[in-house]
Amino acid sequence: MSDTLKDKIAIVTGARRGIGKEIALKLAKEGAKVVVTDISQEDCQKVVEEIEKLESEGLALKLDVTNEEDIKNAVAKTKEKFGKIDILVNNAGICLLEDIKNLDLGVVEKILNINLKGLIELTYAILPEMIAKKYGKIINIASIAALVSWSKIHTYSASKGGVIGFTKGLAGDVAQYGINVNAIAPGAIETPMLDSILKELRMTREQVCQFTPKGRIGKPEDIANACRFLASDEADFITGQVLIVDGGYSIK
Ligand code: NAP
Repeated sequence: MSDTLKDKIAIVTGARRGIGKEIALKLAKEGAKVVVTDISQEDCQKVVEEIEKLESEGLALKLDVTNEEDIKNAVAKTKEKFGKIDILVNNAGICLLEDIKNLDLGVVEKILNINLKGLIELTYAILPEMIAKKYGKIINIASIAALVSWSKIHTYSASKGGVIGFTKGLAGDVAQYGINVNAIAPGAIETPMLDSILKELRMTREQVCQFTPKGRIGKPEDIANACRFLASDEADFITGQVLIVDGGYSIK
């Protein structure tokens, strides 16, 4: 275990699997105590057991980012167990495909509620604590879908564009309180989400790789590494930025 994040307390959303789980484990490996949250507490507990094997500490909590009570509870329980919150990783997100000939505002509402409104609500709930302590690292997981066009995910793209706008706007307002706010924009990363998108779009991994200069699909660890850096004091002079981690997909 390294000590880059020693004694730091982190909350990660959507962390029962995929990118969020890898981020939780990476932060723990760097010495942070991690509150592992997602829609299912049971799966989060399994991640906490892995964190304990790394000789760090964790706490599993049910946190649906669209549920006000869950948000209040997560803030209260984190402070009760660990006394503070230093790092917030807003990772929870969904990607629902939309057919241009069969548009549904219910789908739009669902995507925006989770990917954007929920992210803002949780951030607002944690900011007073960070402002009071004059310390905080907020990392928002966006997507290159906010920057380049992908088929059938226009509302998802809008939600991630909103995440980037929120990141930049908030960063300017809270820098004076010692708080850094940055976003990571992943390209295609091997997780259950990518699996279902590729299936629905009838795309192969080979096709994605063809358009990716690095010639491979990303691993959750590629995102976790970027997140570890932005969560650390090595990134103290970086705020309001979007770190693109996509193997070069967006430069083509
Ligand atoms: P994933 O495997 O689907 O994991 C996302 C997690 O978030 C799931 O456990 C999911 O639970 C949870 N979640 C969904 N709605 C939630 C809510 N209301 N409150 C709390 N948690 C909720 O996806 P991933 O690929 O790891 O994605 C993580 C983040 O990276 C997302 O923001 C995604 O948009 C972004 N991203 C992913 C890729 C990629 O290629 N994988 C690319 C760019 C950006 P359920 O399973 O119950 O839905």
